[in-house]
Parts: sequence; structure tokens; C-alpha cells
Amino acid sequence: MGGRLLAIGECMVELAQAGEGLMRRGYAGDTFNTAWYARILLPEDWAVDYYTTVGDDTVSDDMLSFMEDAGIGTVWIRRIKGRTPGLYMIHLKDGERSFSYWRDTSAARLLASDGDHLRHAIETSDVIYFSGITLAILSEQDAATLLSELRRAKAAGKVVAFDPNIRPRLWADRRAMLSTIRDGARAATIVMPSFDDEAAHFGDGSVSDTIARYHSLGAPNVIVKNGAEGATVSFSDASVHVPATTVEQVVDTTSAGDSFNGAFLARYLEEGNARDAAAYAARIAARVIGEHGALVGADKLADA
Ligand code: ADP
Repeated sequence: MGGRLLAIGECMVELAQAGEGLMRRGYAGDTFNTAWYARILLPEDWAVDYYTTVGDDTVSDDMLSFMEDAGIGTVWIRRIKGRTPGLYMIHLKDGERSFSYWRDTSAARLLASDGDHLRHAIETSDVIYFSGITLAILSEQDAATLLSELRRAKAAGKVVAFDPNIRPRLWADRRAMLSTIRDGARAATIVMPSFDDEAAHFGDGSVSDTIARYHSLGAPNVIVKNGAEGATVSFSDASVHVPATTVEQVVDTTSAGDSFNGAFLARYLEEGNARDAAAYAARIAARVIGEHGALVGADKLADA
């Protein structure tokens, strides 16, 4: 079968503490993490491409080489003269992690500034994945451009998957945040929210509230992640609850939701059974939170 999956968003440089006064460089970002897991878990007849903008500096060169080494296509990635990728630093103090971000002027903020290029990339793909963070980093006008291309893709019968990933810090105001997230869901065929975020920002009292709200916006398929409580799948028929996989020791929950999404899509696109795909995604997410870092390698995911 096979096809082309296009993930749209921002990949950042990650600096994580590696010793006293020492940092280790990595690369991560919600939609990129999902592309990473989809690439590992989909068979070779699928292409996984990343859509973003980077700068014209050495950091950008290194980031693109990293993606290519991971088997993620970079053909659609435009370079913006004089810009550079966003960066974040993970601080570890007494076992607690905190983050600092330098992303206000990152190259990725301009990812939807060339509408023709965006349309061409989307038209060439079968499956498009984006998130609320993708929308949050764009100007109002560029977010409108992206949403209109995604609606075209949905109308053309493509799979359009959306994780609302609500991050209030990235939005100038709350009303714009909530209405743009709703527009993202309207443009999607699969919405993949995390219940905690939805309860906090949309006031949902239960997972079924979240499911009903996204169906009513016109998303035919919804899968709600709820940490150790598992996930609930509502794909055009009755909802099914799929338990989380027990994790002996949670090491680092970074990327739990992103890896779940990548694994879910990989299995669902191949086999078409949402319930089985959710159970598989729960097994992959359990592996990922048992290891350090956002990007866990293929060797740690085998036979999940
Ligand atoms: P996010 O990372 O987006 O906040 P969740 O916390 O809901 O998302 O986690 C996503 C998925 O990761 C869950 O649906 C579940 O499969 C898995 N997961 C998260 N936390 C745990 C946990 N403590 N034990 C087992 N599985 C977990």
C-alpha cells in the first residue's frame, strides 16, 4: 500500500544537562517527534516528510542532516535567510525538569508564509499531521493560509490528523487560542487531544465531553489520550476505551503523547483498525516513557 505522510511544525534544538556545566545537543519538537516515531514504525513503502522552515546557518544544516539520517524527508523544508532554529534548554533540579525557550523569532515561525509551496507539499501527500503548537507559532494570516490548505486536503479525502497540544504560553490571547484550536479540529479528520489539556482549557468534565465537542466541530474521528488512564477511541462508531500499558518505572514522560500519535498513525494507516492501533500506541508510549529523552531509538521499540 504505502503513501506519503507530511508532518508540519517546528523542530527545535534541545540542550539537556549532561554533567556539571555540560549540555548535550539534540533536536525535538512535538510534530517532529511524531514524525520520528511514524518513520520508525511505518514500513519502507511509506515516506515521512517534515514541513518547516529553517535558517541558512550551520545549526540549520546540522538539523537537516539529523532529519535525513533518521530517514525523514527534508525536500519541502525552506530556508529563511538570516534566521535560525528555535532552541530550548532542559534544567534538572532535584529530579524536577523545567524548560527555557528561545523561539520567539525562530525560522519555523515563517513555515506557512509561502502558500503555493505549502499547497504543493500537501497536494503531494496522503496524510497530513499538525498540532496546536504549529498553529500557535504562526501569524494570524499564515495560520489562516495553513488552515485553508488543510481544509482543502480534508475535502479532497486525505487523512488530516491534529493534536491540539494546547500551550497557553505560545498564544497572545486565550480567545484566539481557543478559536484557532477549534478551526484546527474543523480542518481535521482525526483529532488526537490529551484530556488534561482539554479539561483545563475547554472545561470538559469527562473524556466523553471532549469526544462530543470535537465530533460536533466536524471531526469524524477522535482519540483522547488520558495518561495512565488509557485512551478512548471514537472512530465514526461507538467509543472504545483502551487501557494504558503498565510501566514499571516512569523515567521521562517527554513525548508520551507525540509517540502515541506516531504509533497510532503508523498502525492505523497500515491496518485501518483504530482500536488495535490505540493498543499498539499505548505499548509504544510505555516504552518511550521508560527511557530518557523525546526521541527513543528503533532498538528500544522493537516487538512492542
Ligand atoms: P501527553 O504526553 O500529550 O500529555 P498523555 O499524558 O495523555 O499525553 O500520555 C499519552 C499516552 O502515553 C497515554 O495515552 C498512555 O498510553 C501513555 N502514558 C502516559 N503516561 C503513562 C503512565 N504513567 N503509564 C502508562 N502509560 C502512560
